Amino acid sequence: MTEKLSDNPLEALHVSDTAPRHAVTLPSVAALDAHLAPYAAHSAQSRGRRHPEAPPSARTEFQRDRDRIVHSTAFRRLEYKTQVFVNHEGDLFRTRLTHSLEVAQIARSVARNLRVNEDLVEAISLAHDLGHTPFGHAGQDALNDCMRDHGGFEHNLQSLAVVDELEEHYGAFNGLNLCFETREGILKHCSRENARRLGALGERFLQGRQPSIEAQIANLADEIAYNNHDVDDGLRSGLITFEQLADVELWRVHYDAARAEYPQIEGRRLVHETVRRIINTLIVDLIDTTMRNLMRHAPRSLDDVRAAPPLVAHSEAVSAQATVLKRFLFKNLYRHYRVMRMANKARRVVTGLFNAFSEDARLLPPNYQSADPQVQARLIAHYIAGMTDRYALKEYRRLFVVDDN
Ligand code: MG
Repeated sequence: MTEKLSDNPLEALHVSDTAPRHAVTLPSVAALDAHLAPYAAHSAQSRGRRHPEAPPSARTEFQRDRDRIVHSTAFRRLEYKTQVFVNHEGDLFRTRLTHSLEVAQIARSVARNLRVNEDLVEAISLAHDLGHTPFGHAGQDALNDCMRDHGGFEHNLQSLAVVDELEEHYGAFNGLNLCFETREGILKHCSRENARRLGALGERFLQGRQPSIEAQIANLADEIAYNNHDVDDGLRSGLITFEQLADVELWRVHYDAARAEYPQIEGRRLVHETVRRIINTLIVDLIDTTMRNLMRHAPRSLDDVRAAPPLVAHSEAVSAQATVLKRFLFKNLYRHYRVMRMANKARRVVTGLFNAFSEDARLLPPNYQSADPQVQARLIAHYIAGMTDRYALKEYRRLFVVDDN
């Protein structure tokens, strides 16, 4: 009699009723990392977590970091935090969340080509903006001004504070307890004073050493993502136009190429056909230039990468073109009067909240109150930085508008 094969693939894994239930062997971490180049960050060689933990099963250390970031509260808040346009200005503009996803996508493409750790670049990319205040850079500048006498406020350090201390998810520790390499990637830059305070994580800023290739990729993927999506959003909003962009070489070359290939298209379709060509050019140039740098410096390990000059880079020609685009955006979009009006409002909201809480800490939830003035200022900064755009506006109304509740 022929045995009937089960339709359920999981049943097929069980050889017999008496066979051990875990007949399938999971691949080792070394096997999961086997495709990586010697200069990549291998998860088995991580400098570890602040609170030691048993190694994960069925995933690498950096996959676990990525998963912890995706499950964090701060990650979900990114959906309601400004990139350039405040959340309520339109449903289709980038938020910090979609920005972070675009950074991760670009960074992974680059990482795969260079045979470095995609899980690590993804973790860094998804976490890099976790510390951003509401209202983008206007919010950060305002909070930094408010914190002038209390050590200042810097979104990189705040991202680190989120993953090291502020998330309350795990029984054994505060924060997400991420690997050294993920934290190193999140801390893109920092002052010498802060570097001294940060111990091992700050050392590279004092010694002039580089972070991993993965961290360097995430950093440049961030720029590629925002330069392109800000052009896209700028055009969508009508604050910048095709005519203005004609002076920007990087735009013009790809706009002309898109029109030559598809003479009939216009509007959003033409914008996207142009932007996708720019992104592709930047990614290919980044991979190409970095490969040349890797060949020239021939790093054999992550330690070699740390001792070498920055290896992930654009060619001089493309870098110059990207700088022109960046300057264009600064002048015509980030300083556009309509963006400045929102920035001004953001500054008043953040400063107003900070001053109200500083004058009377009893307005704060109890876990944000402290008798120590320095600690109190930092707790207020944490509280405000954690707010989404709309929560900050609501909180402002609650505190300052008499007939609101
Ligand atoms: Mg970013």
